[in-house]
Order: sequence, then C-alpha cells, then structure tokens
Amino acid sequence: MIDHSKEQGGAAGRSRDPECLFCRIVAGEIPSSKLYEDDDVLAFEDIHPQAPFHALIIPKAHVATLNEFADGDAKLIGRLLLTAKHLAAEHGLPGYRVAMNVNREGGQVVFHAHLHVLGGRRMRGELG
Ligand code: 5GP
Ligand code: ZN
Repeated sequence: MIDHSKEQGGAAGRSRDPECLFCRIVAGEIPSSKLYEDDDVLAFEDIHPQAPFHALIIPKAHVATLNEFADGDAKLIGRLLLTAKHLAAEHGLPGYRVAMNVNREGGQVVFHAHLHVLGGRRMRGELG
C-alpha cells in the first residue's frame, strides 16, 4: 500500500493523547478485536454493537473530531472511508451504513474521530 503518512499538514505529525481511549487502543494498552490495520488506520469491533456488524474505523494519530482534520488529511479521510468499503466487502455486507458523530451535539462520546460501520441487517430508523 502507498504510504501517505509523510504528507504535510496532516494528522501524521500529531502526538497521541495518553488520556484518550482510542489512542490507548492504538497503543495496545486496551485490548480490541482488530478487523484491519495499516500504518495510519485501525479498524476494530465496537464493544457495544448496535447491529450484527458494527466496526469503528479510526486514524491512528489522535484527531479529536472531524473539525480538527486539515486539508492535508484529505487522503487519510479517503482511506478511512475506503476501509469501510473493504470491510463491508470482506464481511459480505450487501448494504451498510457509515456514520461519524461530531461533538456532543452530534452524539460523539469518544473524542478521537471515528467512523461507525453498521450492517448485517436492514438499516432502520431515522439518522437524526
Ligand atoms: P461515539 O458515540 O463517540 O460516536 O461512539 C463511540 C463508540 O465507541 C460507541 O459505539 C461505543 O460503544 C464504543 N466504545 C466505547 N468504549 C469502547 C471500548 O473500550 N472498546 C471498543 N471496542 N469500543 C468502545
Ligand atoms: Zn486519541
């Protein structure tokens, strides 16, 4: 895979937050059921799944919310989204939902940006 981690202005140079739950998962200090990993991206099972398949996809670098991504992170954001596609294909999901909560008002609880990937049954309900 091409390594985009040296890109300027992106998340790669940001330090990890030792208090952050998902940074601690990246560091292996808290166990997780990993589904995919490369130099910049980690995917793992959500501990409280809301569908038969519920994965979280995160940048390994600490980025608190979507609002903290910079223009230089465009490729990283694309790779997070493409990881959702690859996971869905790997797990045989004919359809699935990708969501990102931003800030408390958006439903965000863990302040290390993450995509939710949900599938394994027909998605229902309203997004909001
Ligand atoms: P948010 O509401 O911030 O978008 O979603 C946070 C997600 O992280 C929730 O779906 C929650 O179940 C999940 N989560 C919280 N703590 C842990 C944990 O320690 N391990 C894993 N794998 N998922 C977690
Ligand atoms: Zn973090």
